[in-house]
Amino acid sequence: MVNYSDAKTLVVQAAQQLTTKGYLSATGGNLSVRISGQTALAITPSNYDYMKMTPEDICVLDFDLHPLDGTRQPSVESAMHAAIYQVRGDVNAVIHTHQVYPSTLAIINAPIPALFDEQVRFLGRAVEIIPYAPSGTGMLKKAIAKHVGNHHNAYIMANHGALLLGHDLERAMHNVEVLEKCALAYLLALCSEKEVSKIPLLVREVAFAKLRKDQKRVEAGSLTVGGE
Ligand code: 13P
Ligand code: ZN
Repeated sequence: MVNYSDAKTLVVQAAQQLTTKGYLSATGGNLSVRISGQTALAITPSNYDYMKMTPEDICVLDFDLHPLDGTRQPSVESAMHAAIYQVRGDVNAVIHTHQVYPSTLAIINAPIPALFDEQVRFLGRAVEIIPYAPSGTGMLKKAIAKHVGNHHNAYIMANHGALLLGHDLERAMHNVEVLEKCALAYLLALCSEKEVSKIPLLVREVAFAKLRKDQKRVEAGSLTVGGE
């Protein structure tokens, strides 16, 4: 019997930290980690209070969504998480939130252009909007799987919320915070009705090249990821 307890504990700790910081609220959102060396993931249960959650509540599924461990109903977005791990070999953690500021951009169809160096370094060239599909559907899974191939680590889901990826859970959580700051700054800038300036294209490409280098290292099996 495989022991999934480390992965399950990590998921609970991250879910509770994100709840305490206000990025997960009510039972909106879900998160998962890839089970190292397997075609499987550990994911939060559906519609369950994050602060009551214990490692026993976490669901372990293979990428075809067959249960391997846990008795609760897995998140309705399990297929979306499994699809991301299959498309993105560099991604070992996925967080879906209904965090407020990206959700505001999600309802005015406003992708975030390259505004800050650290945004591009960690999230990608821009934070694109993935077209709307209802929660928990195959349509949403397909739309997500199509978009994540561009190697960005943050997306806004139209009329829904946000999606953050990382080579580990710590980085995915860091990306939740980077996205929140960028979304809030961008919204305030839009409200000012002044011209929004972007970082120079050359700087954007240098920052994105560093992110891609990290991703390739992770895919090649080397865990050393630069932070500069
Ligand atoms: P779950 O509670 O099933 O994970 O659903 C929450 C959600 O955010 C759906 O998009
Ligand atoms: Zn959701």
